[in-house]
Amino acid sequence: MTTFAPGCLLVTGGAGFIGSNFVRWVLANQPDLTVVNLDLLTYAGNVESLADVEERHGRNGDGRYHFVRGDILDLGLVQGLLAGRTTPRPDAIAHLAAESHVDRSIMGPSVFVETNVKGTLTLLEACRGELTARPRPFRFLHVSTDEVYGSLGPYDAPFCETTPIACNSPYSASKAASDMLVRAYVETFGLPALITRCSNNYGPYQFPEKLIPLMITRALRDEPLPVYGDGMNVRDWLYVDDHAEALWRVLVAGAVGTVYNIGGESEIPNLELVRRLLGLLGKPDSLIRFVADRPGHDRRYAMDIGRIRSSLGWAPRRDFAAGLAATVEWYLSHRTWWERVLSEAYRTAAAMYLAER
Ligand code: NAD
Repeated sequence: MTTFAPGCLLVTGGAGFIGSNFVRWVLANQPDLTVVNLDLLTYAGNVESLADVEERHGRNGDGRYHFVRGDILDLGLVQGLLAGRTTPRPDAIAHLAAESHVDRSIMGPSVFVETNVKGTLTLLEACRGELTARPRPFRFLHVSTDEVYGSLGPYDAPFCETTPIACNSPYSASKAASDMLVRAYVETFGLPALITRCSNNYGPYQFPEKLIPLMITRALRDEPLPVYGDGMNVRDWLYVDDHAEALWRVLVAGAVGTVYNIGGESEIPNLELVRRLLGLLGKPDSLIRFVADRPGHDRRYAMDIGRIRSSLGWAPRRDFAAGLAATVEWYLSHRTWWERVLSEAYRTAAAMYLAER
């Protein structure tokens, strides 16, 4: 089924949650692949999440992994990377770099437009120039989110790729804008790009501002667990390695110009999820505190993954209960990792969503 076989993949945002798991996954599963990871190392990026990758595949390992600290908005830098001036020359991009936290987008939308919209535009422009100067088989994989589709009612059919875009947060609006730019570059300039839209990911190395690690790390310190509104907002969860495999499958076998939904087929209300986490941790439900609802809070997400399942043979592998238990286990055994990111970054952020109702 493979139609495209990149030798070198430029990953943007590879020091973030999904990016670091994706980089680890591709290097482990694609023995002939080299990866160049371009990441600015914002509060959400952490090279410690890739310490094992650096050791195995970096300069002192098999040499298949290169890290470049830099900004996707830096056109000259991206042009140089695409031309292979200082690192191996890529023949594909997996674009994951983004501002990714909805609450932060409510507190300050501008950086979301800068990074997610202008950053994507910079990459698209650099690719257009590079492929004009040095034409070659190439693919641009744009990693997006189910949130662009807006919100579902309890009995609505899941989102499919033709569901109209209906963003409700500055984060999802910025992602949808970047999706539209990617589409426009396919249609206008013939850029060989593909778009994926995925539901909520969970697993190791997720920054503890996102729901699952936020609840785990607070519960472990016996701190109150803030649950928005009535806690009945429903999310669909996908284990991050399953997402990594889906991204690879789309990159090498997807049809250019196509959108692929990716999801875990594991819907659960937030409150039930938090209760399950407390059960796994042996902590009491009395830690739960209902807090004022997030403005514009989408009620339910669910994904129809028929397209990727039937055309690329991908389906989620990890059972949700097993994945959740493994994730709790990971946070229990990696306390140093999350305590460090909490102490340096998170505490300084204004966390309006922790205010009690
Ligand atoms: P994350 O916030 O954990 O990581 C983002 C990474 O991008 C960080 O390493 C950060 O340093 C880097 N970055 C930010 N601005 C940059 C810039 N200007 N230049 C270079 N690097 C920069 O995000 P994540 O949760 O891993 O999400 C990755 C991608 O997947 C995002 O595009 C997000 O929209 C999308 N996505 C995430 C989820 C999810 O559940 N987390 C679901 C669907 C889609």
